[in-house]
Amino acid sequence: MAKPTGFMEYRREEVPYRPAAERVSDYFEISLPLPEEVLRRQAARCMDCGIPFCHGMGCSLGNRIPESSDLVYHGRWREACENLHATNNFPEVTGRVCPAPCEAACTLSINDEPVLIRQMELEIVERGFGEGWVQPCAAEEKTGRRVAVVGSGPAGLAAAQQLARAGHEVVVFEKDARVGGMLRYGIPDFKLDKAVIDRRLEQMAAEGVAFQTEVNIGEDVSPKYLRQRFDAVCLALGARQPRDLAVPGRGLENIHFAMDYLTQQNRVNAGEDLSREQPIDAAGKTVAIIGGGDTGSDCVGTAVRQGAREVHQFEILPRPPERANPQTPWPLWPNILRTSTSHEEGCLRRWGVLTRGFTGVGVRVRELHGCEVAWSQVDGNWRMSELPGTEFSMEVELVLLAMGFAHVVHRGLIERFGLELDATGNIAVDADCQTSQPGVFAAGDAVSGASLVVRAIAAGRDAAACIDRWLRGRQPAGRSR
Ligand SMILES: Cc1cc2nc3c(=O)[nH]c(=O)nc-3n(C[C@H](O)[C@H](O)[C@H](O)COP(=O)(O)OP(=O)(O)OC[C@H]3O[C@@H](n4cnc5c(N)ncnc54)[C@H](O)[C@@H]3O)c2cc1C
Repeated sequence: MAKPTGFMEYRREEVPYRPAAERVSDYFEISLPLPEEVLRRQAARCMDCGIPFCHGMGCSLGNRIPESSDLVYHGRWREACENLHATNNFPEVTGRVCPAPCEAACTLSINDEPVLIRQMELEIVERGFGEGWVQPCAAEEKTGRRVAVVGSGPAGLAAAQQLARAGHEVVVFEKDARVGGMLRYGIPDFKLDKAVIDRRLEQMAAEGVAFQTEVNIGEDVSPKYLRQRFDAVCLALGARQPRDLAVPGRGLENIHFAMDYLTQQNRVNAGEDLSREQPIDAAGKTVAIIGGGDTGSDCVGTAVRQGAREVHQFEILPRPPERANPQTPWPLWPNILRTSTSHEEGCLRRWGVLTRGFTGVGVRVRELHGCEVAWSQVDGNWRMSELPGTEFSMEVELVLLAMGFAHVVHRGLIERFGLELDATGNIAVDADCQTSQPGVFAAGDAVSGASLVVRAIAAGRDAAACIDRWLRGRQPAGRSR
């Protein structure tokens, strides 16, 4: 245990951010590092609980958080870095973007502020890269088995790295131009600098993982061909079918899915040529973002950086309580009001608002029409009703639909593989991560539905362990090369 009295002596100190006025004029990351003495003080707050809920319940990866805290407190950074990598392939990503359910589950959260777990994770791994401690861990022996990983988001990448380290020959197929999935194209640069992904991909390539981009499995390559060439397949396709808004005027111009908008800005930042595409630009516009979640918040930060005149964000659910919510007691993830750094940069937020439609001038959207709604419980189910007299219209020039994702995209690969789906429309798998097709496994959002990076990494690791077990229990197949 770091320091038995630490939790009584020290208060939580928050991560510093670049001033909002400065950061909105660029897309660089907004958080700043903490000095070592502050980190060690923060680590001292960990109580090394007999039952560490942070590790067992909060973190899907089972990160050994009390051990990390102890090592940081004692300045044993290299061991802390090894401890972190024992459970997490990409702590530099989760250290930046994870909402940190571990902190919500920290015992100190019951009546105090939790340990600063996420920032400690980030500082450990960044020190690891800086000191050259993060090196390729290539397998000493090869198995001669080949595995195709389809999709290069965090689930696919974690699965690929684990499988390569187990000695299998791994090829990651990605339909986009670059590797990374939502990390590359969804999450804005101001939260996750893309050089962070590239640095890890170098390690993976040195460990023997091969990447083939701009290959759409199911369109460019048939499932049959893939299965002939590989002993096992891991599908990590993400859950990319966006929820749409079936209201009058939806077809007007300047109404876009959030993911299309965010992807474009990330591609601009990466220097990609978009001259043949219609730009989605918030500059000088009044922007309405429909959906009050994290994707909506990323749209806020991006629209502010593009120079939007005004940014409005509408959420259909009621405003959550500011502090403790009795419906989500510790150690659950609390459903409370969250104000992101993007919200702080300038945004008008409303809750309990239903968008009823749009009207336009010519083909372009000009007005959003909405009303307020009330929520009540009938027979245990939530029911929404429009509140008479609350109807409103507002001028808008750009609308971004950030209402989440329904499920994995069915068209193409899923249909051509003939895979069974579960009740939510995602890929059905058994306890060994195997789909309805033997030798075809699945992981990440494509199985769970849209979720979090930390869960995708954990799912990729689980699938890799299952694939490895499955391959080792089989005779080599007579496949063609
Ligand atoms: C805007 C946005 C912001 C987010 N911010 C956060 C955050 O801050 N913190 C957090 O924890 N989570 C965040 N998330 C959620 C997180 O990004 C996802 O849960 C996670 O990326 C899922 O990982 P995955 O590997 O399952 O899928 P994805 O990351 O979606 O990757 C799937 C990959 O499969 C590829 N693919 C699909 N079909 C094919 C095919 N047929 N052939 C070849 N390739 C294919 C896709 O192109 C994609 O690259 C965010 C999501 C969005 C949309």
